[in-house]
Amino acid sequence: MSLIIHQLESFGTLDGPGLRGVIFLSGCHKRCRYCHNADSWQISGGETWPENEIYNWIMRNRNYYLKNGGITFSGGEPLLQASALERLCRRLKKEGFHIAIDTAGVIMDQDVENLLKIVDLVILDIKHVDPDTFLWLTGENMEITLNFIEILNELKMEYWIRQVIVEGVNDTTLEIEKLEKLTYSKYRSKIELIPHHNMGRHKWPSGCRVKRLEAVETSEEIMERLNQALLFFSKKDKTNETISRPMEI
Ligand code: SF4
Repeated sequence: MSLIIHQLESFGTLDGPGLRGVIFLSGCHKRCRYCHNADSWQISGGETWPENEIYNWIMRNRNYYLKNGGITFSGGEPLLQASALERLCRRLKKEGFHIAIDTAGVIMDQDVENLLKIVDLVILDIKHVDPDTFLWLTGENMEITLNFIEILNELKMEYWIRQVIVEGVNDTTLEIEKLEKLTYSKYRSKIELIPHHNMGRHKWPSGCRVKRLEAVETSEEIMERLNQALLFFSKKDKTNETISRPMEI
């Protein structure tokens, strides 16, 4: 079997714990309004790699990945290629690799469930906590992603929640509080807030059915404020202690 690959990164440090080989798969049917990887949308734009070649690419740096990192499959939407991924991941698990999948969580079928059962970590991107804004930003119903979280909980899988912070879209502490509560679970081990940037702007295809959201790059001040709020709400959920609330709720 083969996988269609958009890009490879030998030593990534942002997509999962430790030093990782990151494999960006081609294809995504969504059109999120501030997607940074619009050039990965078309599956036909990727390169077909037989499973053995990807396996060998990973093995070149296996000692680094096995030390404290692993392999992350990102995209695009990696779950579109769940069946082929499952085969590869089974081989990698036998070698002891930690495997993460970075997904928007909008696909669930038997192939996806089979894959999830053998990976170690899901990094789940959630664009917004308000259903209407979620729909506007992604073109999808938020319920689909919430159901995906439910299945992760049923499978007792570790997952991280990720949200890109965009000024004027989801930059209030109230929205961070909702995100924390909406996704709270003993299987959720982390929430990551990521500042929006415009580096992927030039990749947006002309004539796209969805207009790209024009937004400024998120400031350090906003990220600092929201990360502090996240810390506060996370502690509050875990301990039920009364601690003073952060400013600007
Ligand atoms: S799901 Fe990810 S790759 Fe697909 S459009 Fe949205 S941000 Fe881009």
